[in-house]
Amino acid sequence: MKILVINAGSSSLKYQLIDMETEGVIAKGTCERIGIAGGKLTHKAQGKEFVIEKDIPNHTEAISLVLKELVDGEAGVISSMDEIDAVGHRVVASGEAFTKTTLVTDEVMKTMDEIAELAPLHNPAAILGINACRAVMPDKKMALVFDTSFHATMPDYAYLYAIDYDDYKQYKVRRYGAHGTSHKYVAGAAAEYLHKKPEELKIVTCHLGNGSSISAVDGGKCIDTSMGFTPLAGVPMGTRSGDIDVAAIDFLCKKKGMTMDEGLVYLNKKCGMLGVSGVSSDFRDLKAAKEAGNDRARLALDMFTYACKKYVGSYMAAMGGLDCIVFTAGVGENTPTIRSAIAGGLEFFGVKLDESRNNYRNDGTIHEISAEDSRVKVLVIPTNEELVIARETASLL
Ligand code: AMP
Repeated sequence: MKILVINAGSSSLKYQLIDMETEGVIAKGTCERIGIAGGKLTHKAQGKEFVIEKDIPNHTEAISLVLKELVDGEAGVISSMDEIDAVGHRVVASGEAFTKTTLVTDEVMKTMDEIAELAPLHNPAAILGINACRAVMPDKKMALVFDTSFHATMPDYAYLYAIDYDDYKQYKVRRYGAHGTSHKYVAGAAAEYLHKKPEELKIVTCHLGNGSSISAVDGGKCIDTSMGFTPLAGVPMGTRSGDIDVAAIDFLCKKKGMTMDEGLVYLNKKCGMLGVSGVSSDFRDLKAAKEAGNDRARLALDMFTYACKKYVGSYMAAMGGLDCIVFTAGVGENTPTIRSAIAGGLEFFGVKLDESRNNYRNDGTIHEISAEDSRVKVLVIPTNEELVIARETASLL
């Protein structure tokens, strides 16, 4: 069985064709600058890279171009579209409308339109991608795989905000979380690595990238997560503020003459590591700046690791114990100093890092970075969100 995984953004579209027998990637690529002059498709297959530079006016053209590449004489990996058994779409937000992977129907797409306002930066782009695929492959089965689904198991006291309960009921304002496919993947991979059943483990999963979120996974189920109604909440991120007193935003908006909409753009795009450091949102740049003596880069990194450590500690308390901490995503997989600042100094809680194990070069495999005698295992696990989307799609069929 072959599954095409699609991750559509407003001006980009990423794809992977996955063979479910081997769970290997047959081909993958990205369309960039959709709807903007200077479009580009980068397609990787059979160990080679193929680049097509041409304007891509919309998502339908992007999908058509991708399919053409997949069956192309030179760059192609399949002989016809019939070889694609189904398409799995990544969708950021499901609201309360969908709690699990869902087959695309007209009715489902109507609901998707209704809930698009829950993630105005992400869901409308996913809808463009889904509609484009439906236009180009009308007979193909398609699944929606939501970033929020893994968090649907949170208990009410964890997902609710302390607002008027009637407002929650009417407007569905609550914590939904994000990065669910990544948290699900690494929690499952950790259990497998430790030769345990997911039900036996209390895990804190740290997805640390440009966007970052931390989850408490108790017995295989997510019981809390740091992102909220949108991905703005939780730890400070590349350009997002993370948790902040809302009254401070009102104050700032008035002082800077910003509307609430502008305030939200500010919080999403100009804050976090970028805002604090004044250097960059990229953790590699921050590390270099800190090493060169830039104190605001040091401050940004300290704020990040301190916030992450507090989440790890609070989730340990929420679960009443801890068996494993997992680091994943761009920063979590590649930055020993960040892992050390978050998981170090927790010996009291049974977490003992081995710094020489922690200091390795990422080779795309699972690494155990806790000391031999650490009661809590600390693992670095390369995430694979596309594989979760493909697995979910396949299991729905
Ligand atoms: P992601 O959002 O998961 O793609 O992660 C992006 C972040 O990961 C950026 O801030 C990068 O600086 C960081 N990152 C990615 N690769 C590396 C690397 N090889 N070394 C250090 N940081 C990295």
